[in-house]
Amino acid sequence: MIKHHPHTDLLLAHAKAELPLSMSIAIAAHCALCHECQSQVSQFTEQAAELAFVAQGDTLDQTPMNATDSSQDDALQQMLSQIMALPEATQTEDDYPVKSTVSLNHKNVRYEIPRVFRQHIAHPWQQIGKVSRMRFNVDENNTRASLLHIDALGEIPQHTHKGYELTLLLAGEFSDLHGQYVPGDFIILDGKTQHSPKTQSGCLCYTVLDAPLYFTKGLSKLLNPIGELIY
Ligand SMILES: [Zn+2]
Repeated sequence: MIKHHPHTDLLLAHAKAELPLSMSIAIAAHCALCHECQSQVSQFTEQAAELAFVAQGDTLDQTPMNATDSSQDDALQQMLSQIMALPEATQTEDDYPVKSTVSLNHKNVRYEIPRVFRQHIAHPWQQIGKVSRMRFNVDENNTRASLLHIDALGEIPQHTHKGYELTLLLAGEFSDLHGQYVPGDFIILDGKTQHSPKTQSGCLCYTVLDAPLYFTKGLSKLLNPIGELIY
């Protein structure tokens, strides 16, 4: 069962088409895997449309009552405002999605991933050891979006981040000291959190990072190539 969902403010911003492409892909892909957030976004979209109709846009920027919760702390707000500061994605409308997923072949495995990725998966994979990544072309200053694949029994050395790190698990599993994750889990970490994700059976993730990784154990010089691969 999916335990980690995007913050309500992100769902709301997505409904209002205010997110940069990197994050808008993440929310759309999570919603394709999570019925709960999908219906939340639909509700926000309807509310935004109604408000726009009634007030002709005047009240669109008011946050609905249920869009905030008590767990907002400064770090989260700061992270959200960094995300919001990026330019908004150009919306590409799907007329009638024929199929809700798109196929991706990597290392002789065929993955069915949410259709939102279809325009972004024509790039080459690059690999170091058990880790491979496909960089997307999102053109958002320091923000980088990629698919990350880790082979069975692979691990990312313990690290933290200067900015934020978003991981959306698409297939397989991985775990870190905070727990074990299933496809659909949306994990956003700020610079204060250290972790070293490991996978037993392998995994495919979508990641968004706005700064390089900072390794907290081992010789960072040796780890730099993997850091560059991931970022
Ligand atoms: Zn969700």
